[in-house]
Amino acid sequence: MYDVAIAGGGPVGLLLAAELALQGVRPVVLERLAMPSGESKAGTLHARTAQSLDRRGLLGAVGRSSTGSVSFHFSGMFGLDLGAVAQEGVSIVGSPQSWAEQVFARRAAALGAEIRRGQEVTGLVQHDDHVVLTVNGRELAARYVVGADGARSTVRTAAGIPFTGTPAGVAALMGDVRLLDPYGVPPGYTRTPRGWIIVWLNPAGHSRVTTYDFRAPHADRQAPVTLDELRAAAEHILDRPVPMADPGALSRYGDAALQAETYRAGRVLLAGDAAHVHFPWGGQGLNTGLEDAFNLGWKLAAEVRGHAPAGLLDSYHAERHPVGARVLWNVRAQTALANPDPAVDPLRELFAELMRFDEVNEHLSGMISGVRTAYDVGVPGAGRMAVDLELKTGDGPVTLVELLRAGRPLLLDLAGRDDLVAEAAGWAGRVDVVRASAAHPADALLIRPDGYVAWTSEATGHPLRAALERWFGECDAA
Ligand SMILES: Cc1cc2nc3c(=O)[nH]c(=O)nc-3n(C[C@H](O)[C@H](O)[C@H](O)COP(=O)(O)OP(=O)(O)OC[C@H]3O[C@@H](n4cnc5c(N)ncnc54)[C@H](O)[C@@H]3O)c2cc1C
Repeated sequence: MYDVAIAGGGPVGLLLAAELALQGVRPVVLERLAMPSGESKAGTLHARTAQSLDRRGLLGAVGRSSTGSVSFHFSGMFGLDLGAVAQEGVSIVGSPQSWAEQVFARRAAALGAEIRRGQEVTGLVQHDDHVVLTVNGRELAARYVVGADGARSTVRTAAGIPFTGTPAGVAALMGDVRLLDPYGVPPGYTRTPRGWIIVWLNPAGHSRVTTYDFRAPHADRQAPVTLDELRAAAEHILDRPVPMADPGALSRYGDAALQAETYRAGRVLLAGDAAHVHFPWGGQGLNTGLEDAFNLGWKLAAEVRGHAPAGLLDSYHAERHPVGARVLWNVRAQTALANPDPAVDPLRELFAELMRFDEVNEHLSGMISGVRTAYDVGVPGAGRMAVDLELKTGDGPVTLVELLRAGRPLLLDLAGRDDLVAEAAGWAGRVDVVRASAAHPADALLIRPDGYVAWTSEATGHPLRAALERWFGECDAA
């Protein structure tokens, strides 16, 4: 009997395995593929994901970080400055998905997670105190199961969780091809009255070519893509020949925006694309999934280890479902704005004008980069990620980010508050207490393992004790 079985060894499943293992739970990851595909859909990690990865010491390993001003787009309209909202320096990270997956796999394995490849989950049955999975025709029991098995999640279907939203209206094709007239195609994002072509140009090698055809969705999502089909789509959109050869990584997808109605059904939980799918505007899908993993890992570990307060595991759905719903909403808005119909042109021009207002720019950048994410933790002024701080402690200088790398809850006493430190002593062994000085307005902060502020001393009338009980369980002395 495993404590946790994770179906799907994609980036989300593997990061979740690392998060669980960091908390002392040894999960098993069941991945259908015998070998990683090596293909990367995603290539961008946003500022919030970078901050979370930094709080685990993984940021440097996953890719190349950019700091300062970074131009980004909304519905293909460039002009957002992600650097203006980045908070901690890193504005964006270039990280091929298949590489990030390897980094997470190594971390998970090093911490004791068991990763089994060539293992296909085909069904599950829930019992009162465990779940039985069918894996390669054999039974495997676990106390909890997480479906991180992608958009067509078997776990989600077998658990009877509805996946609802809006159907596809756009047909997208993607492939890495050798362009035979590389300077005959426009690089970057191009909208024509017939659709979109997006080209990441490599004149001497393979360029990534994506087409969005707004006439109709794919008749058959599973049909293999041919070079002729991608070429025809590119030629239709650009209305001229686009010679290409040597295709690789051909795929088709659509703009269906679907979300699991619940992220938890009994002992089954969903994370990543198994919980939410949408068109890739803004590169938000993987980022949202990785943030699911950071939110779920410590909560599920506390449940498995027997010290989770009532409702902690359900707070995963309560916190992450609205975040996913908002991503689907902003992506639907981007698709509507992207419509190639020239009647939409004035709306795009007006939107582009609005994007020049700092407040609008920051609102949209904050949404795409995830840094505006806040959870309702029931304490005014709390619920956002604690921004990094330079701390002076009795043991020398340290940053808040470094302190959070152990993945443990933290009471940060910044004003010699003996009363609060004495209160937290009832949670010794579960909540670390660090006394320090720093340039911060609050006397003290209670920070969750995922880096979010659960309580601040600035919230008068909200005792620390209630927050400790809400997130970390009963006091030992109780
Ligand atoms: C063109 C494109 C570009 C994108 N760009 C970005 C971007 O820049 N940034 C971003 O954040 N997101 C981007 N995304 C979205 C991103 O790729 C996905 O959100 C991400 O892959 C989700 O990761 P996951 O681990 O949840 O699922 P997946 O990556 O789908 O992994 C699921 C894993 O489960 C395994 N599996 C499936 N079924 C079973 C089963 N029954 N048993 C066992 N194993 C199973 C699969 O083999 C797979 O390894 C893009 C998507 C597309 C299509």
